Amino acid sequence: MTRWRPVRLARAHDETPGSRTLVFDAPGWPGHLPGQHVDVRLTATDGYTARRSYSLAGAVGVELTVERIDDGEVSPYLTDQLRVGDQVEIRGPIGGWFVWRPAAAPVLLVSGGAGIVPMMAMIRARREAGVDTPFHLVHSLRSPDRLHYASELLRPDPGVRVSLLYTREAPGGHPRPPGRLTAADLDPPGAACFVCGPTDFVEAAADLLVGLGHDPGVIRTERFGPSGS
Ligand SMILES: Cc1cc2nc3c(=O)[nH]c(=O)nc-3n(C[C@H](O)[C@H](O)[C@H](O)COP(=O)(O)OP(=O)(O)OC[C@H]3O[C@@H](n4cnc5c(N)ncnc54)[C@H](O)[C@@H]3O)c2cc1C
Repeated sequence: MTRWRPVRLARAHDETPGSRTLVFDAPGWPGHLPGQHVDVRLTATDGYTARRSYSLAGAVGVELTVERIDDGEVSPYLTDQLRVGDQVEIRGPIGGWFVWRPAAAPVLLVSGGAGIVPMMAMIRARREAGVDTPFHLVHSLRSPDRLHYASELLRPDPGVRVSLLYTREAPGGHPRPPGRLTAADLDPPGAACFVCGPTDFVEAAADLLVGLGHDPGVIRTERFGPSGS
């Protein structure tokens, strides 16, 4: 396991009303593959520590997007308390399976809520690599104000198709009525599949993909369940 590394918050902005993107100054960061995550460790003055996992959102550098869980221990601190210049520790990059490496095979990304974070890293890495691999992002979110990376995702990116599925409230004129992910929202077999989000979302999406005939061996999943020590 890699060592803990002190990093300082360099800049931050609200991503949605409930989430914040944090960019850390991480000297000596070795780089990472899109889809990998880091563990973040907080240490209180009395020595108590808490650690949680967060996906890397950028193609380069240490950028995280944290969704606030109101009764959570770590996420409200990261979204509401951490100030530019403050230090935390991170360990990583972690993960070797849920990663995208530039390849020709089409890619289907299926995310729910904050599960979009590693998908954004993959879309950014695709752009950075200058490849034309077809990507289709199918993203499930509660309502329009919950869209992470909105300006970037809504901007045309040749070869990247974005399908937004609203579960509670869709914007006026949206072609699909609000509702949960169904098989009709997904593509037929032929793509490398990445699925990320809350555990129940990931399980439902993976079942739908298998039901459509996708080979379970090409479906990579990442569950954003509780991750504390
Ligand atoms: C590999 C991996 C990558 C992750 N990447 C991200 C990321 O990019 N962005 C991000 O915001 N989160 C991510 N998570 C989730 C993150 O690690 C924490 O679990 C989350 O921030 C909650 O921590 P907390 O200390 O605030 O809540 P806790 O104090 O751990 O939990 C408080 C309450 O919320 C529930 N809870 C915990 N986690 C979640 C959750 N994810 N969804 C709903 N309820 C929850 C708990 O069961 C508990 O009831 C990732 C998790 C994993 C395993």
